[in-house]
Amino acid sequence: MRSVDAYLADILATVRPLAPLELELERALGTTLAEDVSSPVPLPPFDNSAMDGYAVRAEDVPGTLPVIDDVAAGSDELRAVGPGHAVRIMTGAPMPAGADSVVPVEWTDGGTVSVQINRDVPVGNAIRRAGEDVQAGEVVLKAGTVIGPAQLGIIAGVGRRRVWVRPQPRVVVISTGAELVEPGAPLARGQIWDSNSYTLTAAVREAGAEGFRAGSVGDDPAVLLDQLDTHLVRADAIITSGGVSMGAYEPVKEALAPLGTVRFEKVAMQPGMPQGFGVLGDDRVPIFALPGNPVSSFVSFMLFVRPALDKMRGLPTDTSRTVTAYVTGSLRSPAGRRSYLRGVLASDGTVSPVHGQGSHQLAALASANALIVVPEDVTEVPGGSSVEVIRL
Ligand code: AMP
Ligand code: MG
Repeated sequence: MRSVDAYLADILATVRPLAPLELELERALGTTLAEDVSSPVPLPPFDNSAMDGYAVRAEDVPGTLPVIDDVAAGSDELRAVGPGHAVRIMTGAPMPAGADSVVPVEWTDGGTVSVQINRDVPVGNAIRRAGEDVQAGEVVLKAGTVIGPAQLGIIAGVGRRRVWVRPQPRVVVISTGAELVEPGAPLARGQIWDSNSYTLTAAVREAGAEGFRAGSVGDDPAVLLDQLDTHLVRADAIITSGGVSMGAYEPVKEALAPLGTVRFEKVAMQPGMPQGFGVLGDDRVPIFALPGNPVSSFVSFMLFVRPALDKMRGLPTDTSRTVTAYVTGSLRSPAGRRSYLRGVLASDGTVSPVHGQGSHQLAALASANALIVVPEDVTEVPGGSSVEVIRL
């Protein structure tokens, strides 16, 4: 049996970061920057008002001043503010020459011909200075940053329409099993609803990739190969579930083992011992052949696929995202295999194993928010012990 760590190391040695491409900003959310983004101009580009009010010389207030002009954001013809004058100014409008402060409208009578200002104003009040956010030429985002809403905003804010990124990997999810039925359709005897393709596609999306749920293909290896052929052209990675263990009717193993580019092996873990991984086609598209039991396939995704997707996105593959917690009950684990038991991690730093640790017990998984990791050489964990936990 391979250890979890060795198996993951093999996967990470095989997958590669996706090649950068230039995308329109509208399509860049969730991608990873592949260039440093800098600003061609200072931001703000010019001194401007931080408030609606009056641009004045601070030494002229308090007092009543004639209002000689009105400037809105976007104005470009500005009259200078002479001694004893005020200009009505809106938030974001450029500061007129001569003025050194903005008096907020709340401190005045709001006049449009003349304005009565009731209090002192410090020099520089309510002015946003050119370059106080970003200097011209300054790098605002570094390569390797994931583009979220605010990052998209600053890229637009420095005037860019297109940006070089590593795209989100496109991941096709296929489930296998003659017993599977689409949710919503009635169940005949011996059938179950296909849940893995939903779980895994959702997990792909949560991992910052694009998930395409191809549905289920039964147990015929020829049909599976045909489907793989169809999807390979648009996939950066493929995930299958089921059909990789030791029984008969293991279509994934039967279809892929003869190709010689996908290995099926036992990994020393519970749940999820049977695993397959390799590459397909001329483009060497990685394929993760996960076991069929719902908890096994999900745990396998978290341990093996997620870090691989991080690598494809050009992100660090931090594989040790665990926290320490105190387990509220005792645990058992098979010798020689690393266990990932489902638990509820509480804010007081305790973790409680959920009832139902079978690898088919999807409802129990759905009630958990953490995996409790029990090392290979530990078979019993007394209640109250400290354990490592992976948050889900
Ligand atoms: P297999 O690995 O194909 O032998 O499947 C192991 C167990 O997982 C069997 O009980 C299957 O019925 C179940 N299973 C396989 N695929 C799915 C799926 N997509 N959704 C829910 N259960 C599944
Ligand atoms: Mg099956």
